[in-house]
Amino acid sequence: MKFEVTILGSSSATPVFNRNPSAQLLNCNEKYYLIDCGEGTQQQLTKYNLKAARIDYIFISHLHGDHYFGLIGLLSSLHLNGRIKPIQIFGPKALLEILEIQFKYSDTLLRYPIEFFPIEADESRQIFENSDVIVKTIILNHRIPTTGFIFIQKQRQRKLIKDKADKIPMAYYTALKKGMDVELPDGEILRSEDYTMPADLPKSYAYCSDTMYDERYFPIIKNCDTLYHETTFMHDLLDRANETHHTTALQAGEVAKIVGAKKLLIGHFSSRYKTLQMILEETQSVFENTELAIEGRTFQL
Ligand SMILES: [Zn+2]
Ligand SMILES: [Zn+2]
Repeated sequence: MKFEVTILGSSSATPVFNRNPSAQLLNCNEKYYLIDCGEGTQQQLTKYNLKAARIDYIFISHLHGDHYFGLIGLLSSLHLNGRIKPIQIFGPKALLEILEIQFKYSDTLLRYPIEFFPIEADESRQIFENSDVIVKTIILNHRIPTTGFIFIQKQRQRKLIKDKADKIPMAYYTALKKGMDVELPDGEILRSEDYTMPADLPKSYAYCSDTMYDERYFPIIKNCDTLYHETTFMHDLLDRANETHHTTALQAGEVAKIVGAKKLLIGHFSSRYKTLQMILEETQSVFENTELAIEGRTFQL
């Protein structure tokens, strides 16, 4: 099952040096989940050949503009392009009011319904579930209420061994994939373990947008497979990071190490950094398996 994320924006606050504000597109089993939607997200989707019309779920971490100023434009374009199927949006309660007022004064009546799910930033909870994945909130420590999101794949059914499965009727596949043995009319037993192999282990992807270092959110991201963590500043600006409730590159490495993440992606870089290599190296000095979550890169999760 496909489980990958494409980075659409890696900049904090403003678009600079060809870096866009925060947005990521998660593809889970060919369904699209948009995580944050900074200004320019639509154009980034087009640039990387990702069809906006395929997005069914949008998750907004908080109401600083660099995380949602692209949303009204994206929703408007979906309307203009004839969308009729609903879209689900998860975000701070006030987001719906912000959207509605923009639609009201532009006299826009959307052709498709927005199903809005307000998020409380008081404690971590499960906010979404379908047959592929569950999503829980991560309570972050920022200047305004902010939640990250952890996407956890569900355990999949066993996989058919093609050569063997080709020799038996398809009608038995479902039971065998569920791990059940099947008795044929002549009494022969088809054993699930002979015709199938174990499914891939479920993976998890944790998205920690704007936050300062705070051990209170560590339990929810413990042992995640891939952790995205903001690194707005380098560690020589720790005071500035604390003042603005952001994380340094060094601290992000520490978070990944302490929680036992397997891989770390870093982003949300301050506009003071024209190049990013020093940031990467600072994080890697603590947590080696780190990569820059920059525009256009796709990571298998
Ligand atoms: Zn931000
Ligand atoms: Zn912010």
